[in-house]
Amino acid sequence: MTLKSIELSGFKSFGKKSTLSFNTPITSVVGPNGSGKSNIVEAVRFVLGEQSMKSLRGKGGVDLIFKGSKMMPSASRASVTITFDNSKKIFNFTNSGLGVSLDYDEISISREVFADGGNTYSINGTEVRLKDVVDLLASVNIGSSGHHIISQGEADRVLNASSKDRRAMIEDALGLKVYQYRIKESERKLEKTAINMKEVQSIRREIAPHILFLKKQVEKVEKSHALREELNGYYETYLGAESAYITTNTRALTHKRRMLDEKMLSLEERLANLPVYNTENANRESVERSEIIKEENRIRRASEELSRTLGRLEGMMDALKAPKIVENKKEENRVISFSEWSNLLDKCLSQIELALSSSEKESIFSVLSNLKNDLIHMRSNESKIENVETNDVNTDRINELENQRQNILNEIKELESEADKCREALRVLDLKTKESEVHLRDSERMRYEILGEKNEVSSDMHSLKYEEEKLESIKLSFESEVREASTLIGMQVLTYAQNGFKAQAEGEDAPASRSIQEELRRKIERIKIKLEDAGIGNGAEILKEYNETIERDQFLERELGDLATSSSTLQNLINELKDTLDTEFKEGVNKINTEFQNFFALMFGGGNANLTVVVEQKRQKKDEDVEMEGEVEDEEFALEKGVDINVSLPHKKVKDLHMLSGGERSLTSIALLFAMSQVNPPPFLVLDETDAALDEANSRKYGDMLENLSKFSQLIVVTHNRETMSRAEVLYGVTVGADGASKLLSISLVDANAYAK
Ligand code: ATP
Repeated sequence: MTLKSIELSGFKSFGKKSTLSFNTPITSVVGPNGSGKSNIVEAVRFVLGEQSMKSLRGKGGVDLIFKGSKMMPSASRASVTITFDNSKKIFNFTNSGLGVSLDYDEISISREVFADGGNTYSINGTEVRLKDVVDLLASVNIGSSGHHIISQGEADRVLNASSKDRRAMIEDALGLKVYQYRIKESERKLEKTAINMKEVQSIRREIAPHILFLKKQVEKVEKSHALREELNGYYETYLGAESAYITTNTRALTHKRRMLDEKMLSLEERLANLPVYNTENANRESVERSEIIKEENRIRRASEELSRTLGRLEGMMDALKAPKIVENKKEENRVISFSEWSNLLDKCLSQIELALSSSEKESIFSVLSNLKNDLIHMRSNESKIENVETNDVNTDRINELENQRQNILNEIKELESEADKCREALRVLDLKTKESEVHLRDSERMRYEILGEKNEVSSDMHSLKYEEEKLESIKLSFESEVREASTLIGMQVLTYAQNGFKAQAEGEDAPASRSIQEELRRKIERIKIKLEDAGIGNGAEILKEYNETIERDQFLERELGDLATSSSTLQNLINELKDTLDTEFKEGVNKINTEFQNFFALMFGGGNANLTVVVEQKRQKKDEDVEMEGEVEDEEFALEKGVDINVSLPHKKVKDLHMLSGGERSLTSIALLFAMSQVNPPPFLVLDETDAALDEANSRKYGDMLENLSKFSQLIVVTHNRETMSRAEVLYGVTVGADGASKLLSISLVDANAYAK
């Protein structure tokens, strides 16, 4: 047995927990009106996921919960659990990744409803979604159309249904609903794929202009990269040569500076060591000279004094020797002797000559003053002479005078010798002075020469300073060029610069000429201007963005391709599913027709009955009968397949279903229902008073068919019909207890038969 039990708790009239076990092929539920039999059938519908409140005879969840009685309080929730045998592992999920294990011998499905209308579902105690319950049941051919649960008064439901709904029931009964699900699922996916494709196409359209813009930018970046490459080459040469130039020239100018400094130092040393004019010596010599001259003058004066004295002596001697001249004292004009005159004249002449021989004013003044004194003295002597008694020649006196004269001559001689010495000293002194002057002149000449040389060195230093400043300015612009170059093409420029320094330090060839460097510099400037015009920077950001955008576009393109592939795969799958469904449906209908014909003929004792598949063109937007699937059909006109029922009663011409009697409708429905169940037996069938309209003869036939059908499906029949009851092995009696709630009573096979009779 597949269906093992059902347990109701707080469901409708079942206030207390009640369990029905289904251990026999046919279980009959019996009891008086209003005892709660149909509530059991609804409990089966409910637990299998029924969503229509109408089918459960309620308006909301609260109607399903035991409302209580005078004796019993109301329940807070209603729960039903149905248990299946799974020892043959017949259950499985078709499209669930659900973490529920089905590896059990029993599978129980529970549903609870709360007063607020909320529902919970669980499989073997694990809470799941309704979808999972539906999915699980589909695997054992229990579809959602509920064709296997025939509620009270719904025996002819299959006759009343539209041809389309009938088709759905038949598909469900044939176990083809799974194809419908898969078709719907694939169509939903296809639709979603189409939406995704549109979205992807729209994104691609949106980013296309941006890609175009970025592409142009990238072209600019590439151009600027080429320019940078070129610049890099020029820089390598330029900076290398420039650094080499700076090294060489710095070295040369440093050397030159050292040479000039040394030269200047040596010239200054030479200048400092030149003999200088010694004023002390000169002053000493001058003092010495004037002292000698002074001594000379003294000697001369002394000598002149002695000469005068000598003259007087000689004059006196002459006078003593000469005849006596009487002189008239009173005479105005006295006669002066010849020797007196001669002496006087000599003296005057010698004084004048001395004055003439001297160049110094002082000497001349001294001589003239002596001359004046001599003349004054002479006048005074004149009077003395006048008073001299012109006596006779006194020889003693003459001798005495002669002695005096000789002494004076000797003194004069000595004085002359001293004068000679003085002259000699003056000559030596002059010689010395002259010699000093020669030295001084030589020294001056040397000084001028050195000063000339110093001037030259200074001028060289001046030029050197100019060159140094020029080199310094080259160095500064080189450094700023290196800085700028490093921002333009990177730090490798430092290596270029160092290469030049190193090459020169290792004594390589002289650097390139300035004109070549200038030409390179002009080329560099031109590239810099071009780079500035491009205004792209290093472009890394643009390249990154371009690559990312292209990557994204390529990704979208691939995605579009994938979507197109999956779209066509889905389309193919849908077509295949539809084909399979079509084929299997047709085959199923054929099989049902065979059984239908048999059951129908059996029920009516002849006649014909069959199903035909019809295709209708229907204007329809929404398929309301598949609420659970949420299906929406957008087509205004859809080709719709339906199933029509054709009957032909024996001995009657009536063919229209509407014209059949209640019993005939029930019999036809039962024949079709049983035919459907025969072709693809469901695990169980619940029949709630399907036999209500049958007469005794037909009740027997119905009972036979039940027994036949119970070989394939478990049957739970709610009935008041004794014939039907007699076919069941177990009867469940339902009564309303003293507490106002439904109560179950199990009656065994023997008791059942007795009860049935
Ligand atoms: P019949 O033979 O006449 O068809 P039945 O045995 O099938 O009768 P049901 O239709 O199953 O009877 O039961 C209906 C009874 O259940 C009613 O008496 C109704 O009051 C009771 N009932 C329905 N819903 C609830 C509820 N929520 N709480 C309590 N009782 C309820």
